Amino acid sequence: MSLETQNIKIQTPRSQYGEHSVPLYLTSSFVFEDMAQMEDAFLNRIDRHVYSRYDNPNVDELIHKVCQMEGAETGIATASGMAAVFACLAGLLKSGDHVLASNALFGSAYQIIELFLAKWGITHTYVEPEAVDTWEQHLQPNTRLIFLETPSNPMLKLVNIAQVAALAKAYGCILVVDNCFATPYLQQPMHLGADIVIHSSTKYMDGQGRVLGGLVLGKTEYIDPIRFFARHTGPSLSPFNAWVISKSLETFHLRMERHCHNALIISEFLSNHAKVDCVLYPYLSSHPQYALAKAQMSGGGGVVSFEYKGDVTAVKAFIDRTNLFSITSNLGDARSIVTHPVSSFLAKTDPVRRAAFGVKDNLVRIAAGLENVNDLIQDLEQAL
Ligand SMILES: *Cc1c(COP(=O)(O)O)cnc(C)c1O
Repeated sequence: MSLETQNIKIQTPRSQYGEHSVPLYLTSSFVFEDMAQMEDAFLNRIDRHVYSRYDNPNVDELIHKVCQMEGAETGIATASGMAAVFACLAGLLKSGDHVLASNALFGSAYQIIELFLAKWGITHTYVEPEAVDTWEQHLQPNTRLIFLETPSNPMLKLVNIAQVAALAKAYGCILVVDNCFATPYLQQPMHLGADIVIHSSTKYMDGQGRVLGGLVLGKTEYIDPIRFFARHTGPSLSPFNAWVISKSLETFHLRMERHCHNALIISEFLSNHAKVDCVLYPYLSSHPQYALAKAQMSGGGGVVSFEYKGDVTAVKAFIDRTNLFSITSNLGDARSIVTHPVSSFLAKTDPVRRAAFGVKDNLVRIAAGLENVNDLIQDLEQAL
């Protein structure tokens, strides 16, 4: 079945009421017929729900859908994308291990790697996302895991997944890819050789800015220890959030098409505008990794970053002049969003480090929503 049909047809079995839409299983635990059944369930002799920190029908349905999309054997769902990142790293790494990480990660991933992993004696080296040829020289005998995100936030840098996967395989490292920006609609890292895929389902999977959620998917041998960690430490996804996200996936393909369409048109419009210096969008032919984007992704995604011609005050005034764009730091919403990274999610990052990431004071990030793109362009035009 195609992704579109699967996302609609994969459903928790109907109850005796014959409901068409899957009900919400808001229950913390599940009851047993008798002690014998309870014992069988606890000893895994029968496949039955026990407790919603472990699993739940709504959560299982969501995991099943996204595993199908990613080509993953199994997975877990977590309360947020960061819970997914942390469960993955904590479940797989031990003291003395080394992590090779792309130097273009979501902000909180840096905090986990630098503050928490370091506290437990797990070291790391950052490598440049576009220069995969140089990664091999930074591997150490104790490098256990390679962590990357592509496209990255907010500079939309790409990493060649297949090339890193070959490296990981040759050196026996686990390759983890945060696939949040591309989503499985546009890119399936496991088909390119990744071992694990991570998502913040807060973004395009919910797609309407309502709930938080995360996923870790991959090969059973790697997911099993992560599942064990998550079951006993408790970053479980709530059944309500799972129900919302799973329902949202029924319209995922339509939404992703529109996000990509709107973002591409916006990026083309910005490229030709006198008030704009530089536009970053993977599916623009001017993107330095355009060929890789075309090979690795089936669309450019919904995020466009650009440099506004003017100082910080002028950039903020431009953002304040927009009417159809929400000023917030989220992305992957039906509503278009505009953000100034340097005054928001990168405000506390050292300016030297921001410069090393290539983030300038005049950088603006747009997350194209699902509105009519002509309205968005008109609004940008007047604001520019
Ligand atoms: C938002 C985001 C996360 C974190 O997800 P939350 O659901 O906010 O915890 C991780 N990675 C990427 C690429 C993101 O955009």
